[in-house]
Amino acid sequence: TLWCAAGLTTLALALTGCGAGQATGAAAEVPLVGVAMPTTTSDRWIGDGKNVRSQLEALGYGVSLEYAENDVPTQVEQLSAMIAAGADALVVGSIDGVALKDVLADAAAADIPVIAYDRLIRESPDVDYYATFDNQRVGVQQATTLLQGMGVVDEAGRPTGAPGPFVVELFAGSADDNNATVFYEGAMSVLQPYLDAGTLVVPSGQTDFATIETPAWDPKNATARMQELLPAYTGTGVTLDGVLSPYDGISRAILESLRGIGYGTDAQPFPTVTGQDAEIDSARSIVAGEQYATVYKDTRQLAEVAVAMVHALLEGAEPETNDVTSYDNGVKVVPSYLLTPQVVTRENYEAVLVDGGYYTAQELS
Ligand code: BGC
Repeated sequence: TLWCAAGLTTLALALTGCGAGQATGAAAEVPLVGVAMPTTTSDRWIGDGKNVRSQLEALGYGVSLEYAENDVPTQVEQLSAMIAAGADALVVGSIDGVALKDVLADAAAADIPVIAYDRLIRESPDVDYYATFDNQRVGVQQATTLLQGMGVVDEAGRPTGAPGPFVVELFAGSADDNNATVFYEGAMSVLQPYLDAGTLVVPSGQTDFATIETPAWDPKNATARMQELLPAYTGTGVTLDGVLSPYDGISRAILESLRGIGYGTDAQPFPTVTGQDAEIDSARSIVAGEQYATVYKDTRQLAEVAVAMVHALLEGAEPETNDVTSYDNGVKVVPSYLLTPQVVTRENYEAVLVDGGYYTAQELS
């Protein structure tokens, strides 16, 4: 593929062989990787895009990075444009896991390998590999931190015998994202026995995925649902002890709603609120003792895995995988590489986030 001819600015910038430096003026052939990311409304995806791009560029690839701002037709168009521009591989952080079937069929017809990035692409035979974290484990970690924060289990996850009942509400992610269900199922595998035993009670009665989902992972939708739940905790004498939250943006929305009815003071501390992504505002909230925990997924590592997959495929080698059974997308089991997510609380944020180079101490203070 002759990328210089494509005339795309982002590509041209990424190319070392194009332009003035070349004595003959002929374009060098640089493979192009199309990188489609879901949204810039959450820090984590901005980090993902930057990391994937810089790592691909370091290996000499041209990169076309696009964000679709959670709009499915936009993402389909962006992928079509990448295919039309002659992309040699695609890395896709999907919005709706089932909406890409047709455009990926076009990619397959053009022999373009596709890597599902973080989120499984469903109902399509045209997804070659999947780079992600162990999503089931994320859910288990979220539920475990919920229980730890309330004192139902100890540091090691062992039941403390605290009788409860502990009052909790549950939130899940966006139904169109396969991960949301996997997080939920992981979390419920931990919580269900405590719900069954009555150690945990959910005053709203909402525990099924469909009743607790947060469309588009949008914090505004979480706020709206939280506002509906609040009357049960306003002037009723019932104290909310914990909220299972699947993502930091949702966690902060929940905390703000609770602040509005008087939580977050010495007399009425916040309930235990979980999270995911170690977004900077949530890391700060954890340092301030507000959000209890997050699940940290180092996007630099995920980028490395996805970039290594692309590189292997374009070199004619076989990408490394470590899980070839878990992710059935409805048409095939997609060979996957799962990274290990890590719990972050106020106890270990320095060791994990600061010493790990994700944030500086100054950024979090
Ligand atoms: C990702 C999470 C993220 C969520 C919302 C999920 O697919 O795995 O890390 O919190 O999307 O962006």
